[in-house]
Amino acid sequence: MRYISTRGGQSLSAAQAILRGLAEDGGLLVPEYFPAVSLEDIIALGDMSYPERAAFVLGLYLTDFTGEELLHMAREAYARFDENGVSPLKKLDDGTYVMELFHGPTLAFKDVALTLLPHLMTASARKSGEKRDIMILAATSGDTGKAALAGFADVPGTRCSVFYPKGGVSRAQELQMVTQTGGNVRVIAVEGNFDDAQRGVKRIFSDAEAAARLAERGCVFSSANSINFGRLAPQVTYYFSAYADLVKAGAIEAGEKIDFAVPTGNFGNILAGYYAMRMGLPVRRLICASNRNNVLSDFIQTGVYDARRPFHQTTSPSMDILVSSNLERLLFELTGRDAAAVRAMMEDLKTKGVYDAGEKVLAGMREFMVAGWADEQGTSEEIARCFRETNYLIDPHTAVAMRVLGEYPDRARVCVAVSTASPFKFGRSVAAALGVEGENDFELCDALAALSGVSVPAAIKELPTLPVLHTAVCKPEDMLEALL
Ligand SMILES: *Cc1c(COP(=O)(O)O)cnc(C)c1O
Repeated sequence: MRYISTRGGQSLSAAQAILRGLAEDGGLLVPEYFPAVSLEDIIALGDMSYPERAAFVLGLYLTDFTGEELLHMAREAYARFDENGVSPLKKLDDGTYVMELFHGPTLAFKDVALTLLPHLMTASARKSGEKRDIMILAATSGDTGKAALAGFADVPGTRCSVFYPKGGVSRAQELQMVTQTGGNVRVIAVEGNFDDAQRGVKRIFSDAEAAARLAERGCVFSSANSINFGRLAPQVTYYFSAYADLVKAGAIEAGEKIDFAVPTGNFGNILAGYYAMRMGLPVRRLICASNRNNVLSDFIQTGVYDARRPFHQTTSPSMDILVSSNLERLLFELTGRDAAAVRAMMEDLKTKGVYDAGEKVLAGMREFMVAGWADEQGTSEEIARCFRETNYLIDPHTAVAMRVLGEYPDRARVCVAVSTASPFKFGRSVAAALGVEGENDFELCDALAALSGVSVPAAIKELPTLPVLHTAVCKPEDMLEALL
């Protein structure tokens, strides 16, 4: 399988695509075609372990690696998840399941890809004869940063630097990052929002001088953001996995189409669902749920992407994004892989802050995608409703998806809401929604645990006892200097 750019250039192997992160022309790397998976294959996944499922799906895309190599990497990565496994399904009622993707080391769905990416990255370097250290750069809206740091900490041949918006992440998210140990990791706060941080990282990537200065130090850049195909591919697995589990449990007939509701920010998670659908997974609708930064849900309804709007800080900070990078991969597919059209749209976005994707893309999206958004009150009400009716605790990101799913009138017989973070990672907001009181975030988590009967994860419990190791702050225009 080769990888091509959404803006027309380059054909790379899987290993090169993972190492590079971004195409040289600024586009995103996408597979040359979607490998087909049969219903028999999907049913067979039901009897496999999660690492085996991952090795099967990844093997279709990452053809530079043997099945054995992939299985080994997946076993190592997913051994870091807790006893619940990687993507357990919780049944809320006959038609509604929640896929919990937060049982990894940093309690957010980013772990599914970022526990695996260091293995893929170092193996890709070996296969490509890359001898230099790989400098992983990530901009984070809260969860990618910690998951990348935890994944790459002390991995030989790699360094990892993370930029996060100062004041734009939850207290637990910030503490998780600034207490990260490891001789090869750095955490830098940016005086700006996530879009500023993401723009800064993209600028560093495309800056020839930055690359030269890094090369002097024996390093080469790569990305741990979901623009890297090595982030996207592992996420495809859990859509297949959920479906196989539902068939095995007798909840759906093999071949029956289901809906997935996905809390969306940078469009990486839901895009993996789209890839699964294109590979043959029986998906009826992908429900794209936004918070108050509802640029995506407006786009899906109108075909016009308009980032010229105020940026809101919400209780679902990992979705506080106005420029959604991975959408470019969907545009590429829905324009019939028209790289010139994609280039023009991205140019409009850059210069005018808005683009019109046109009738063809809009009609294409309408076949399988719907969108909605939840405001702060709706998110809070949903956390309360869900707990009242089902005794199940959800975090604000998951609540956005559940709210939008609940308001969607035409749902499939069986729907899966994708749960992207542990409620304890956002204890303050969850407690406020439930009227639970306490002095600080950690007391609030204890109170939530007492209320729900779910214990506070160790990764949260230990946070107040850990020393703060990273205190650097910089302006968005000084990110390169701060890094070097
Ligand atoms: C990153 C993240 C999201 C958004 O996922 P995208 O792939 O960026 O759309 C949603 N919820 C949580 C908890 C996240 O960490």
